[in-house]
Amino acid sequence: MDLRIGFYICHCGINIAYKVDVREVAAYIHNLPGVVVSKDYQFMCSDPGQDMIIQDIQDLGLNRIVVASCSPRMHERTFQNACRRAGLNPYLLQMTCVREHCSWVTEDPSRATNKAKHLAAAAVSRVRRQAKLYPRQERVHPDILVIGGGIAGIQAALEVAGSGHRVHLVEKAPSIGGHMLQLDKTFPTLDCAACISTPKMVSVAQEPNINLLTYSEIQEVKGFVGNYQVTVRRHPRYIDADKCTGCGLCLEKCPTRVPSEFEEGLTTRKAIYRYSPQSVPVTPVIDPENCRHLNGKKCQACAKSCPSDAIDFEQEAQDVTIEAGSIIAATGYDTFDPSEIKQYGYGLFENVYTALQFERLNNAVGPTQGKIELKDGSTPQSVGIIHCVGSRDVRFHEYCSRVCCMYALKYAHLIKDKVGRHVPVYNFYIDLRCFGKGYEEFSRTIQEEGVTLIRGRPAEVTDQACTSGEEGKLIIVCEDTLLGRNLRIPVDMILLCPAMESRADSQEISSLLGLSLGKDGFFLEEHPKLGPMTTATEGVFLGGCCQGPKDIPDTVSHASGAAAKALSLATKGEVSISPTISWIDPDICAGCQICIWLCPFNAISFDARRGVSVVNEALCRGCGSCAAYCPSGAAQIRHFTQKQVFAELEGLLEPVSASPAQSEEQGEEASQA
Ligand code: FAD
Ligand code: SF4
Ligand code: SF4
Repeated sequence: MDLRIGFYICHCGINIAYKVDVREVAAYIHNLPGVVVSKDYQFMCSDPGQDMIIQDIQDLGLNRIVVASCSPRMHERTFQNACRRAGLNPYLLQMTCVREHCSWVTEDPSRATNKAKHLAAAAVSRVRRQAKLYPRQERVHPDILVIGGGIAGIQAALEVAGSGHRVHLVEKAPSIGGHMLQLDKTFPTLDCAACISTPKMVSVAQEPNINLLTYSEIQEVKGFVGNYQVTVRRHPRYIDADKCTGCGLCLEKCPTRVPSEFEEGLTTRKAIYRYSPQSVPVTPVIDPENCRHLNGKKCQACAKSCPSDAIDFEQEAQDVTIEAGSIIAATGYDTFDPSEIKQYGYGLFENVYTALQFERLNNAVGPTQGKIELKDGSTPQSVGIIHCVGSRDVRFHEYCSRVCCMYALKYAHLIKDKVGRHVPVYNFYIDLRCFGKGYEEFSRTIQEEGVTLIRGRPAEVTDQACTSGEEGKLIIVCEDTLLGRNLRIPVDMILLCPAMESRADSQEISSLLGLSLGKDGFFLEEHPKLGPMTTATEGVFLGGCCQGPKDIPDTVSHASGAAAKALSLATKGEVSISPTISWIDPDICAGCQICIWLCPFNAISFDARRGVSVVNEALCRGCGSCAAYCPSGAAQIRHFTQKQVFAELEGLLEPVSASPAQSEEQGEEASQA
């Protein structure tokens, strides 16, 4: 069949046209073999732009389309749909990016125009080799899996369950609640975190559409969008949840004490313990590392005290398989370990606390029943709060953690409120970032309470007094960058505001789910503005802080958005699976099996009878690892075959004339619209 190629270059308003001479590119491409029509237009993605392509396909019998515009990540689907509407197979379209790769990054207009010609010629050369492909239709399993039971996971699970779909909520801790459950009051409204989160936690436990799996972790993820099979390991609690009444008698009798994770090490818990005072479920858990009986010593005090005979030391880990059409990752964040910044003295001076420790210190059910006190039990008479510990610092995390300024101001208020207005509180900040609804007003109110704001990142915290006023105090050494003065501020208590950072196991979870990590370490969304909940893996969505630092309102909105995305997939009932997957040519395959070990999705198996590797199309995600490595060239990704890739390279390397004069007869057609 004769090739009849249509070429379209977009001005993108002026984003492309201010650097690239789009008419010159259109005229140049018009001369290439097989190109029937070549046009430029101000907004190719607009309705008139798409209609122009559709009309040309129908009027001129075009059988290949090339669009030179923004990144394919932005509009490939738009133009594929335009082709589909015109009756052309969408895989006969090729896009080339002359905005992000060209006009935005190339200074000189004539070089940018030349580069655009190369890129466009490469796309034309490639499209000649493209073939029709057809996506597969698959049924979507109606259930949805949510990983992580912090406020994001809770919100997503409740949204999904409310719509009538079944949700499996997997939480690795013994209780749901996440970090929000550790907080005392929340900015900017100062309402109690537990009061607003526990009703939601209870709803999760009572909702018949939610299958809650606490103390459980994902082991393996198989399948593809619409049809995931996930193996979840349920760790043994050593307590029969059906018999346990939650009376708590066992907790009293256990003789073993270890630092409490929930209380951030400020107090201890027993070896049999409830994760937090508001745990959901209430069933305790026995920590196998610290339980005397489970470590071969004589004890069983808990079993003897349990009136319901619920203690079961014979329990073992259990693997269960969950089927789900989509997955919402809501695994949240960790906080930066401030002992990495040695000069702030965390771990060295006992009255230097982290923010989460201070949250617990403030809490009515925390280690001091909500009394703000120093390690010796006395009340601090001055407090220093250091913002941005590990955030906005090129040595650790370049990004802003978005919540620290606000909670640091919240702490200043709580100290003034609980200890007394007379107590000096110094906040050391770089910039005050109070961006949310009601945040600026909150900040002003706190400042009016008499908080001292000092602009500057402290250099160190020391106990080396220089004057009698500094004796027995912790001294914050800092430059006030507004006044240009060096300061030494003696205080009794120091609060560090550590960065929110990606979970320690995010690499592991990302490979299980086929996600990428951004350079900040958080899970990478599909598009920072237009796809903040979707990911490069179809059917896997992100909710809350696993995508980046957020406050609670943003976490809740993000998680609701992820639930809406998952639900729209579930209610469609069918999904089309991309045909751009791997194919192994059995005539070429040497049977070396390297691809089997390389494939991150276990999509390749070995056919021993024929002595060749075979791709399971249902599992292949088209990542290209096999095709990139296959020494005999047998593994190829459809739509990214060697012939297509080499054709693109050849087109790219083709010499282009620097500035051809637009021929008269092309000019008319090439510069229309
Ligand atoms: P998380 O709370 O971290 O929850 C994630 C959950 O996923 C956890 O339960 C975790 O155990 C679970 N999980 C992790 N990995 C896995 C896995 N592999 N498998 C299964 N489960 C897993 N925001 C405000 O709006 N107001 C405030 O006053 C406020 N104060 C704050 C004070 C501090 C000191 C900090 C650090 C933050 C504060 N925030 C505040 C922000 C708030 O904590 C977050 O917005 C919110 O907790 C994010 O919820 P999340 O569900 O995304 O993450
Ligand atoms: Fe459950 Fe028995 Fe402990 Fe009571 S004593 S909380 S019933 S395990
Ligand atoms: Fe605690 Fe002993 Fe029970 Fe272990 S056996 S949880 S140490 S009481």
